[in-house]
Amino acid sequence: MTYTATICVLALVAGILLKPGPAKGDWISDRELSADLSTNGIGLERSRATIFFEPGVLSSEEMIAFADLANQGILDVESYLVADSLDPNRGGGRKIRYFVSTQVQISHSNWRAIYLPLAKVKNQTAPYLHETTHMLAPCNDCPMWFSEGLASYVQSYVSEHTGGYDGGIFTRRGNRGINQDARRWLASDRGQAVVPFLGIHGEPPSIDWDRANVAAPFYVMAQSFVKFLVERVTLLKLRPVFDAKDFDAELQSSTGKNAVEWKELWLADLSLAPASATR
Ligand SMILES: [Zn+2]
Repeated sequence: MTYTATICVLALVAGILLKPGPAKGDWISDRELSADLSTNGIGLERSRATIFFEPGVLSSEEMIAFADLANQGILDVESYLVADSLDPNRGGGRKIRYFVSTQVQISHSNWRAIYLPLAKVKNQTAPYLHETTHMLAPCNDCPMWFSEGLASYVQSYVSEHTGGYDGGIFTRRGNRGINQDARRWLASDRGQAVVPFLGIHGEPPSIDWDRANVAAPFYVMAQSFVKFLVERVTLLKLRPVFDAKDFDAELQSSTGKNAVEWKELWLADLSLAPASATR
């Protein structure tokens, strides 16, 4: 499906209208950034996405390519998440807004929009499918291991089976290599330090700032754990968990086991011979 590449230049007189950015190291809030880019950025409209770019860095071709990619990503993630669901209208066709800027340090999303670092969009390493999954499956009562594991799992699955790229931050081999990566982390002190936070509510201390020592092992093992769940349970049975008001109760009733029991099975599976590594 092709979309009319309508470039809506909201303010092309860059340099005149653009306010000077904050000094290096300053944080700009999501609210300030979205307000600024909505007014002074370059906005591209697609059927399911509105993407605002900081002007002056990406070429028109690069912006159009990413707008098409993000829009297709929404359709692909949605179709994977609801394909075997009883409610095909889920997702509702709501547009998702993306803000792409050099002022974004770390990719993230909130219930209103997705924020991506411009450099990662330019070099095609942005975790746009991961953040899109957060928007389409908000998973409000989910513990961090589940919502982050799910977003990373879906990002890898869609890029491996449908299209787009895997913006995996802590792994380069997607779902195909995730069990090997998780096994490697498990064997290390840094991995052992975050294992207790898988399967429970709560998150490891310092996960927001200690990316290399805490976030990396946590995200990798969470993706492996969710992959194990999807493969054992099927996405159809796991689906009600995303919307549940009580994650633990729904996991138990939908899958027949609680998170601690699933974790034991997942760890046992990981400890099997490396022959199972590529499953
Ligand atoms: Zn995430």
